[in-house]
Amino acid sequence: MTTATVTAPLRHNFINGRWVASRSGQTMERRNPADLREITSIAPLSTREEVRDAVAAAKAAFAGWRDTPAPLRGRILGRAAALVEKQKEALARTLSREEGKTLRESLVEIERSINILEFIAGEGRRLGGETMPSELRRNLAYTIKQPLGVVGAITPWNFPVAIPVWKIAPALVAGNTVVLKPSELTPECAAQVVELFGQAGLPAGVLNMVLGAGEEVGDELLQDREVRAISFTGSNEVGSHIYALAARQMKKCQCEMGGKNPVVVLRDADLELAAQSVVLGAFGSSGQRCTATSRVVVEHAVADAFVARLLEGARKLKVGNGLEADVDVGPLVDSQQLETVLHYLAIGKKESRLLLGGDRLSGPAYDHGYFVAPTIFDHVPWDSVIAQEEIFGPVLSVIRVADFDQALRVANSVKYGLSSSVYTNDARRIFDFIDRIETGITHVNAPTVASEAHLPFGGIKATGVGLREMGRVAIDFYTELKAVYIDYTSLPA
Ligand code: NAP
Repeated sequence: MTTATVTAPLRHNFINGRWVASRSGQTMERRNPADLREITSIAPLSTREEVRDAVAAAKAAFAGWRDTPAPLRGRILGRAAALVEKQKEALARTLSREEGKTLRESLVEIERSINILEFIAGEGRRLGGETMPSELRRNLAYTIKQPLGVVGAITPWNFPVAIPVWKIAPALVAGNTVVLKPSELTPECAAQVVELFGQAGLPAGVLNMVLGAGEEVGDELLQDREVRAISFTGSNEVGSHIYALAARQMKKCQCEMGGKNPVVVLRDADLELAAQSVVLGAFGSSGQRCTATSRVVVEHAVADAFVARLLEGARKLKVGNGLEADVDVGPLVDSQQLETVLHYLAIGKKESRLLLGGDRLSGPAYDHGYFVAPTIFDHVPWDSVIAQEEIFGPVLSVIRVADFDQALRVANSVKYGLSSSVYTNDARRIFDFIDRIETGITHVNAPTVASEAHLPFGGIKATGVGLREMGRVAIDFYTELKAVYIDYTSLPA
């Protein structure tokens, strides 16, 4: 176990290109969830007035940034990508200390952020509309994409580098200015991301950040009439509130929320491959990812053989401080998340058959953090609480089904629709699954958790409302389309 140290930078808001101390006088201490003796940062609980300052700075910077040619805006993002690459080891350590995921997982998150920055930087050279034939003679018709103005980004703690990046980058390349409100649990990661954007050469006011509580800072972003759009990632509870409030304000809004992602294992599947992938998808990042595998729906014919492999894989996982090299599963992010997961474990024990884990871990390696054992429940009824609700912890439900049709019905029985996967080599089943599974992302013979920077990311049903993030389509949320008609009959010859 690492020795506890008390090093805690006091973080400030970033407004108009400067780090500004909050006037609130109230702060929040963040501790390493793997070792609570270590304070990782102290951040202000900022006021609504400070949000208004940040919005005013973003508004003042908008005209200059909008008029900066898009390829030059993209070039700054390219420089940000290079800076992240240069500092990725240090950033990964900050991420693991603050959020708890393993160093390996932090590096993967940072690589993904670099990929997003590099891809979106190139969009600065492709930010065109369409040219179309006019119905009229000597007329030209085309579309252009224009920025919205000031955009608010409200982000969760579970990808504290990648999610701010995948909102900020397309917003900026499209010519908007941004106010970021990161999670209270990960202010240090957010501050380092904002710092890197600043070092890449963004003009003052183009990117701002206000630290503090959702109910104050996030709410003020929603209330402020100068904020034209809100991009939110987080829970359904908060997302549905934000969506309704944004509608009342006539703000453009996208909300990416929870998941309950299934892996379907059919009788002809490569069971070893499927089991390895489910172990990775269910217990990686301690199950605290929106694309985590939380249900495995397996045909009766191979269920026992599959579960045996699953148990073998899960038993090998080492839980501990993510900064230690051989650790596979880190802690939960905070006491509230721990409480939620323990609540679902108690329900699961009543509803289903516990095969592995099921409790908080204790002992010298665990007593200073929020560690829960990787947990597998078997014979889980498809409509039970643990099979339907997002747990956001290292908890996997095995649901046994008779055949492919029942597997699909069960997979689609939840309110969420983010990611899914099927393990089979039957071509007809593969295409049936792709056609009928109700998720925004789907995989074949691969884990539910992978995604690439140039493909759209997001869910359907209760998971996602508004336009998709990432990929080329990310730009659509941050732009308005203008249709242009030019009649050149009367122009001088
Ligand atoms: P959360 O509690 O909903 O918080 C998300 C953000 O909203 C935080 O910055 C939070 O601030 C802020 N917020 C809270 N109340 C607010 C209000 N009344 N007005 C404005 N903002 C408010 O979610 P979380 O616990 O951080 O994240 C976990 C959730 O995110 C899971 O459900 C997960 O599935 C989801 N997620 C989804 C995706 C996806 O792409 N679909 C990706 C990652 C995570 P504070 O918490 O700082 O107060």
